Amino acid sequence: MCLYPTEHADLAMPIEERYRGYLDELVGHRHLVPTGVPGVYGRGTEFERVIERFDALVTRHGAALAPEVMRFPPIFNRKHYAKIDHIRNFPDLMGSVHTFTGGDREHREMLGRFERDEDWSRDLSASEVMMTPAICYPLYPSATGTLPPGGRRVDLQGYAFRHEPSVDPARMQIFRMHEFVRLGTPDEALAHRDHWITLGQEIFHSVGLPTQPVVANDPFFGRGGKVQKAIQREQNLKYEFVVPICSEEKPTAIGSSNYHLDHFGAAFGIRTHDGAVAHSACVGFGLERVALALFRTHGLETRAWPREVRDVLGLG
Ligand code: ZN
Repeated sequence: MCLYPTEHADLAMPIEERYRGYLDELVGHRHLVPTGVPGVYGRGTEFERVIERFDALVTRHGAALAPEVMRFPPIFNRKHYAKIDHIRNFPDLMGSVHTFTGGDREHREMLGRFERDEDWSRDLSASEVMMTPAICYPLYPSATGTLPPGGRRVDLQGYAFRHEPSVDPARMQIFRMHEFVRLGTPDEALAHRDHWITLGQEIFHSVGLPTQPVVANDPFFGRGGKVQKAIQREQNLKYEFVVPICSEEKPTAIGSSNYHLDHFGAAFGIRTHDGAVAHSACVGFGLERVALALFRTHGLETRAWPREVRDVLGLG
């Protein structure tokens, strides 16, 4: 089933205007609730219902793996953050949680700056947590040690944070992902990634989203980032499922399937049953982006969506 392309009269407009136009429509239909910060929204009833139904669809497909179900909060251990390469590759996207740790005198000084409308953020100190940049990151440090025979399969869902304020409704600063992670041998991890490239496509196509798998092009930071980018593309480790939301030329990734080699196994001392460094792979579905793609493709009112799509999602 392929219901795209839907005709959008605004495709000739500059991209920023298209983003703004779609955002206005979403807010007008109470799908998104603005907060005054670009990329941070509340969600309305129908938007949330679509996310819940798609999430349930993904859970049903993932159940065939008989995964462990685990949930982590959207903040994670700063010491664990220091063991991954995020600070080197994506410093501009990080979120660090700070708090006040001074005494009475420092409090008075901070309040003075606060009341004079000066910058009081320098009075804060780093807490023991960072915002979680990817929802599978907290899993790996919890898996330190030896995996059971056959490795592990884990179902994760939660919020990730990326500081990239944008008028593009699909570029949220905080959003939910549903992931299935595989920890095991290189063959097991690679098979998981490839299985989900096929299954992910089937899931998206079943709800009328004509995604294509493409080799990922992550926004690695700065001069060192050019090398990382080349390595990622050369090794074809990560595939993204892309679909046009506001732009045919710049389609949006609404999911990805990623083979991490032994990156997390080596960083966190995870070993396979026979003592080798574990490899890992994860597939992730970007829940808000999927909802945005669905509303863009099928229209802003779910009751007008094609019957097949409503049935697959169980929208009634
Ligand atoms: Zn992941």
